[in-house]
Amino acid sequence: MGLADYTTWRVGGEAQWFAEPDSREQLQALLAWAQREQLPWGVIGAGSNLLISDQGLPGLTLCNRRLQGLALEASSGLIEAEAGEPIPSLARRAARAGLAGLEWAVGIPGTVGGAAVMNAGAQGGCTAEVLRSVTVVDPQRPEAPFELTADQLDFAYRHSRLQLEPLVVLAARFQLQPGQDPAAVSQRTSANLHSRTSTQPYQQPSCGSVFRNPEPQKAGQLIEALGLKGLKVGGAEVSPIHANFIVNTGGATAADIDQLIAQVQDRVHAAHGIALHPEVKRLGPFEGLALAA
Ligand SMILES: Cc1cc2nc3c(=O)[nH]c(=O)nc-3n(C[C@H](O)[C@H](O)[C@H](O)COP(=O)(O)OP(=O)(O)OC[C@H]3O[C@@H](n4cnc5c(N)ncnc54)[C@H](O)[C@@H]3O)c2cc1C
Repeated sequence: MGLADYTTWRVGGEAQWFAEPDSREQLQALLAWAQREQLPWGVIGAGSNLLISDQGLPGLTLCNRRLQGLALEASSGLIEAEAGEPIPSLARRAARAGLAGLEWAVGIPGTVGGAAVMNAGAQGGCTAEVLRSVTVVDPQRPEAPFELTADQLDFAYRHSRLQLEPLVVLAARFQLQPGQDPAAVSQRTSANLHSRTSTQPYQQPSCGSVFRNPEPQKAGQLIEALGLKGLKVGGAEVSPIHANFIVNTGGATAADIDQLIAQVQDRVHAAHGIALHPEVKRLGPFEGLALAA
């Protein structure tokens, strides 16, 4: 299975084995199979923060996009969502129910599982502020899902414990603020989306911001100040619209994007002595990794 169709950058080679389970039970059975066969495994969501190698991935790649569904309790503000539920539709559903707290999330094209792993955030908000707990499964014991509360997840800027441990997120629970005016929450949600689509290259394949911000500096400002907008390697280009985005202008390979990332890192380091670290996760083999994610 070619993984380019499963990433928002539209790059990536073949998975040796690939599955899109329709249910938690199927996912657990597939993990058990990978364990029995002693195969390496990995899980992806919407592939919106992934750079997958042109050489593809060994073992089993699971995509959680079909694990959808959510239960929303308007009176208490509690939402339980399956790992594959898209974040933008979660934000819209919450707004329509008069629940505040996810207005920032509408422009993030990932899944609930990916947002929990990455502590996705935007416009002053982040997943850690609204997530109460996740249901996870350890592939060593796929028959026994368990719960981790937010304070067990070590959330930090674009970080969670889930990036360090081989656990698969099956579902997440969110606590939002109930009793808000649905029209007002929806209006704030739409305004957030508009402000992003008017300042970021949403029409071209990308993975959003490539680099973490080296606080208090902004990665995009550092890159733009060096005149690197429009810098290209093959089909990969530093977006002329937003310097922290690398876009696939057509026909880019993962190697093109990887080399462009390294060039930007080198130029920023040479000019400012600042090491830019990618926010995006690389999967599979890459040559000449300058700075690991
Ligand atoms: C146009 C655009 C704009 C973006 N804007 C933002 C933004 O404003 N803020 C922001 O934070 N991000 C942004 N992103 C990046 C991305 O959308 C987020 O990081 C998102 O949370 C990734 O979710 P995903 O489902 O696509 O995860 P993927 O990219 O598929 O995976 C990301 C990581 O999570 C792991 N993972 C995914 N699902 C599971 C699971 N069920 N269990 C265990 N591990 C899992 C993967 O193995 C990988 O390590 C943007 C991306 C794009 C393309």
